[in-house]
Amino acid sequence: MDINKELYTEALKYIPGGVNSPVRSFQGVGGTPVFFKSGAGSHLFAEDDTEYIDYCQSWGALLFGHAYSPVVKAVKKAVEKGTSFGAATRNEVDLARMIVEAVPSVEQVRLTCSGTEAVMSAVRLARAYTGKNTIIKFAGSYHGHCDYMLVQAGSGAMTLGIPDCPGVPESFTQHTVIVPYNDADALNAAAEAYSGDLAAIILEPVAANCGVIVPDTSFLSAARTCADTHDALLIFDEVITGFRLAYGGAQEYFGVMPDLTCMGKIIGGGLPVGAFGGKEDIMSMIAPAGPVYQAGTLSGNPVAVSAGLAVLRCIQDTNPYTALAEKTALLRTAIQDAAWEYGIPIVVNSIASLFTLFFTDEPVERFCPDTMQNTLLFSRFFHTMLEEGIYLPPSGFEAQFVSMAHTDYDIERTVQAVKSAFSSLHGTAA
Ligand SMILES: *Cc1c(COP(=O)(O)O)cnc(C)c1O
Repeated sequence: MDINKELYTEALKYIPGGVNSPVRSFQGVGGTPVFFKSGAGSHLFAEDDTEYIDYCQSWGALLFGHAYSPVVKAVKKAVEKGTSFGAATRNEVDLARMIVEAVPSVEQVRLTCSGTEAVMSAVRLARAYTGKNTIIKFAGSYHGHCDYMLVQAGSGAMTLGIPDCPGVPESFTQHTVIVPYNDADALNAAAEAYSGDLAAIILEPVAANCGVIVPDTSFLSAARTCADTHDALLIFDEVITGFRLAYGGAQEYFGVMPDLTCMGKIIGGGLPVGAFGGKEDIMSMIAPAGPVYQAGTLSGNPVAVSAGLAVLRCIQDTNPYTALAEKTALLRTAIQDAAWEYGIPIVVNSIASLFTLFFTDEPVERFCPDTMQNTLLFSRFFHTMLEEGIYLPPSGFEAQFVSMAHTDYDIERTVQAVKSAFSSLHGTAA
């Protein structure tokens, strides 16, 4: 029996579904999840010693690859001085200052332990600040797993919040309204319909949790205008885009400013850190400065914060964004050329260091799960890539992440693997 199967059988006994987060299971592609024991740069090493080039990069938490030495050094140094004090430290002030200086709309920031917590707290704050309840979110967008964000992504122009998940009372999602991504008209209509009660519009400035969907240039500014018109707050969930699209995140990249920003992933350098921030007059409503309660035993703990600081300092020192975009563009072009060569209909959506390969011949501009991805073809593609030593996120509805650790040789090997995957799909794709 192979090691992955052995470990998975054990895992299934003790952990529901064998994993500690459902996206790690191979439910979307079939087969047994790979168990990893170490990572170095762009590479992951499995328990059975197979080596993979990794395009998951801890779901985008890593910008410089695995076991990046400045992060490892910072964490070692911090951990020897104590893992958590439950009291104020210099490092959390430094990280907060770096975030405020980097992200244009953020004047004050509160650290959390996850992106989920950041979103949950930002939404509570938006409701408190506006004195209203309704939140507009977009179909296919993921904002963490708090109750009122787990709402079915409707295919109609506007779907009322019906819980997507057992255990979530309907009354918890009755204030969540879903509209299609990239559809300013639907957004305006929904905002109009709930005008007296609209607290916030929350969006991923690049949708990256249903495969990558890039916003129309006018969509983000339409959301800004819409929020202003209805005295609501605009929340950017930059848990993926923050420090990935640019040092100032998507708001710097697109030049559209939200009222509140949620962050996570990169700012923790692979350790648990989230953050939410915004204008001082809004943020000062957070306890103990104000009445909106928000807390965390391990929030801003010295080990996690030291990793985040190390990463942000490396970004400042190296300004990696042009190189990341070039690597990603190289890969995208090569994949498109290969698809053309083997007659495979695909669309590759990409921006900065994010991309998704969709097996479809229609442009992917919003979340249409039935048409945007041929999941059967994706599964076969995924497994051929895996056999070729390339680890992709195990679902056709996820972003792939390019890091600074990916070398030209990695990209060359990836393109070769894509060609062999396409060649095995060729003839069956039509
Ligand atoms: C990952 C993610 C979250 C949730 O962050 P966790 O740290 O997993 O709780 C929220 N929003 C977006 C856009 C994400 O990609």
